[in-house]
Amino acid sequence: MMTTEIYNSIEDEIKALKHKRNAVILAHNYQVGDIQDVADFTGDSLGLAQQAKKTNADVILFSGVVFMAETASILCPDKTVLIPDLDAGCSLAGMVRVEDIRRWKAEHRNGVVVAYVNTMAAVKAEADYCCTSTNAVRVVERIPADQEILFVPDFFLGTYVQRQTGRTNMTLWKGYCHVHDMINSEHLVRLKKKHPKAEIIMHPECGCLTKSIHYADRVLSTDGMIQYVQTSAAREFIVATETGILHRMVKDNPDKLFIPAFDQAVCHYMKQNTLEKLVLSLERMQYEVKVPEVIRVRALRPLERMLEMTSDAKSYQNKAC
Ligand code: SF4
Repeated sequence: MMTTEIYNSIEDEIKALKHKRNAVILAHNYQVGDIQDVADFTGDSLGLAQQAKKTNADVILFSGVVFMAETASILCPDKTVLIPDLDAGCSLAGMVRVEDIRRWKAEHRNGVVVAYVNTMAAVKAEADYCCTSTNAVRVVERIPADQEILFVPDFFLGTYVQRQTGRTNMTLWKGYCHVHDMINSEHLVRLKKKHPKAEIIMHPECGCLTKSIHYADRVLSTDGMIQYVQTSAAREFIVATETGILHRMVKDNPDKLFIPAFDQAVCHYMKQNTLEKLVLSLERMQYEVKVPEVIRVRALRPLERMLEMTSDAKSYQNKAC
């Protein structure tokens, strides 16, 4: 006979299902607030990849977008990786294809490919190194100076890395995140006039970074932003990235003011996930993201290289910014 459990709240239901499945919930910093609140870990791509790697859970419910769940599947082939909604894509990850990388490699026999973590597994499999916004400068600095680099897919992060490293032999793919592209320097100037004491913190994916870098007090990954606002003496911050990050900032720092650089910088892919879909995902064990083994083993190498380079990423990040 089937029994139907009665729960006081959807959060209780998720907790019970998590226990039943021996699952861990990983949520990206851009998820809606109520998902961040039920997650075991909230973080950026790098932080969540590291959590995925060390979890003892049998099931990883990845509340983020598909390329992130793929990364968890690459790192943890023995785990079941679920995503609440398969439509949670990424405009940036969709801007570079396997054929593009292969063509460049055929024309640049001694070149290497650095793939931002915001790429699909099949693209990572063609890359020599992966990077995140936290460690991109460090990864590029470690590549021998005489080796040509193709940096994919984010043009703005690539431009930032190029400026920080002074590297001239870098080809930058012209991809961009449509959300970060919405934020422009006029937004920052207007808000800074209104809040002169506020610090401006920017994500390197921002389309206006080149034009606005002299306004920025810090250029940081999302986890870098979350750590920075806790330690900074400033009381007000203008935050140039997807607005979901403000949830945790406000929660962790109730005495500080956080102002989105542009309040419509909302990623509809990230917002596909809901608490209801988390319940369905754990109940029905849907939707499994499993990277085919032939791609997984090749995509693992650049990811592992990146993870090896992250032990002192925090100190480097402060230096870079
Ligand atoms: S915010 Fe941009 S980079 Fe992040 S998932 Fe959305 S579209 Fe992709």
